[in-house]
Amino acid sequence: MNSSIELISIGSELLSGRTLNTHAQTLGAALTEIGLTLSRDTTIPDEIDTIQSVVKEAFERTDIVVVSGGLGPTVDDITREALAALFKVSIVTSPSGLAEMTRRFDARGISMTPASARMALILEGAETLLNSVGAASGQRLDLPDLGKTLFIVPGPPKEFAAMLSDHLVPWLRAAFPDAAPLQLRVLTTQGIGESSIVTMLEAAGFQYSEISVGFYPGAGMVEIRLNAPTEKAAALDDAERMLRELLHDYLID
Ligand code: ATP
Ligand code: MG
Repeated sequence: MNSSIELISIGSELLSGRTLNTHAQTLGAALTEIGLTLSRDTTIPDEIDTIQSVVKEAFERTDIVVVSGGLGPTVDDITREALAALFKVSIVTSPSGLAEMTRRFDARGISMTPASARMALILEGAETLLNSVGAASGQRLDLPDLGKTLFIVPGPPKEFAAMLSDHLVPWLRAAFPDAAPLQLRVLTTQGIGESSIVTMLEAAGFQYSEISVGFYPGAGMVEIRLNAPTEKAAALDDAERMLRELLHDYLID
């Protein structure tokens, strides 16, 4: 199974400027921490055709896709319908999802309506992912014939984060027991621009074929991030030592 994971965020408000889409950062950080990669982040409106074509294309590139948003009780929440039609499965009520939601509503003295019961609907054959901080259940649909897995999780950022920590990350850890986070070194310079740094490094013959190097300019500062797998730790040490020597006069961290 390919360990690159794609994220598809569904919500017209994410494209209209109403809402800042924070999911790529949340998922990217969670995956980096366990040594896996968020390879693509796509944001699309609540439109059946678009959802179907984008999910289909994502599965042509990778084996694990996380879809978020559009699972609520309102008419614009059409993610389930779109995905059920795409994978030719029906939509059923999740008994555990419904029980959990009933318990949650009872505790707050709210009565269940047909609209709220929609939030316990899942695709037939999917595993229910109970939501510890909100109403809508998430779900995991394994597609064994294709060797692929689809996660469908609620959009609100707190619920998305809970789905990752409660379900997605533990599942990924089990699926990729050998995954290890990259080693990371961070240097921060002040008083020298990005292009001057690059010129200095080129003049000194600084090569970084074995490790990856990123330059992130900010206000008056440049953060340089070096990373590499654990087995390349020696190359990382060398690169860091050389950079610290070359940029000595400008380093603040
Ligand atoms: P709910 O059951 O709460 O309705 P849902 O899965 O249907 O969840 P949406 O209706 O799409 O999610 O969105 C619920 C709220 O979460 C909205 O305010 C929406 O703007 C916000 N939200 C959804 N996706 C994102 C995202 N990617 N980044 C930030 N906020 C998001
Ligand atoms: Mg939405």
